Amino acid sequence: MSDCIFCKIVDGKIPAAKVFEDDDILAFKDISPARPVHVLVIPKKHITSLATVSPEDSPILGKILAKANEIAVAQGSPDGFRVIINTGRVGQQEVPHLHAHIVGGPDPVGPMLKRI
Ligand code: AMP
Ligand code: ZN
Repeated sequence: MSDCIFCKIVDGKIPAAKVFEDDDILAFKDISPARPVHVLVIPKKHITSLATVSPEDSPILGKILAKANEIAVAQGSPDGFRVIINTGRVGQQEVPHLHAHIVGGPDPVGPMLKRI
């Protein structure tokens, strides 16, 4: 997707503070962090949202969740974290490339976030 901001990050066309990547997924710091640790984990291939995944996307979705703890610990959230995946209009997703927010830090993140 040529006009997708997160595809541009994957392609290196715009910069990001990358914290992890492999062949399938990329993790980078959110540009506007809501908590001391705030990382976005995305599939490198363009998937618009959880509302548009196909059965063959299941392994990559699993990989995103399976890597979350390692990323959180490495970034300074050693004792847990929260994962949020805003989806579509009702989920108030702003960037239409599927991404998991990993939010945390040294202290509890607080009640369910209204908007991150
Ligand atoms: P969402 O509302 O779930 O779609 O969240 C989009 C997130 O992407 C927001 O938390 C933004 O701060 C973040 N974001 C937007 N552009 C960038 C960027 N270029 N680099 C890092 N994070 C970004
Ligand atoms: Zn994209």
